[in-house]
Amino acid sequence: MRSYLTNLECTYCGETFSADEPMRLCDKCGKVLYPRYDISTASKNFTRDLLRDRAPNMWRYFEMMPIREESNIVTLGEGFTPIFETKALGAKIGSNALFLKDEGLNPTASFKARGLSAAVSKAKELGLKKLTMPSAGNAAGAMASYAARAGLEAFVFMPQDAPEANQKEVIVSGGNLNLIDGLISDAGIISRGKAAEMDLFDVSTLQEPYRVEGKKTMGYEI
Ligand SMILES: [Zn+2]
Repeated sequence: MRSYLTNLECTYCGETFSADEPMRLCDKCGKVLYPRYDISTASKNFTRDLLRDRAPNMWRYFEMMPIREESNIVTLGEGFTPIFETKALGAKIGSNALFLKDEGLNPTASFKARGLSAAVSKAKELGLKKLTMPSAGNAAGAMASYAARAGLEAFVFMPQDAPEANQKEVIVSGGNLNLIDGLISDAGIISRGKAAEMDLFDVSTLQEPYRVEGKKTMGYEI
């Protein structure tokens, strides 16, 4: 398999960048970067038939994922969550076709697994060794778990009143948990400061290009 990934593009000013070196935000305007793909070739060659015999996880869409080499995929089996009809709730709110996709069945019990599987895979591919992020909950456990799977070091900055379950996820995964006396925004400031000081790569939401690529697979599955 090969990915149709071509480059990174700024979602605001349109500047393009290589997708083969570590990038966080646009060098020119500081806004979010998105990976771009050769959609016209993919639309001809990447057919539904190819998916049929693939493993039931989000990496079955490898051609539209931002990873060059399959060996860099860091997976715990995320994605391919069930979709079921919720008739009683539907009737209550006046819908005759209400469906729920149960993202709680992901490996780290939330949709955050998808984004962190993608971001940690790309970090591994780019040779990054130490990751950091602020989190108030589920993303922390996901990041620490995927970093552990990849053999990377994880630093997590959480408000001290974050759920205990998520704190424990970081600890049992071998991550460096730092509890902050403040809000998630304070944790973000400290995480960014430590990133600069200790050469950590910050994988905060929309501060790097790849988490969103995992999340988009929810749409593919639907
Ligand atoms: Zn820009």
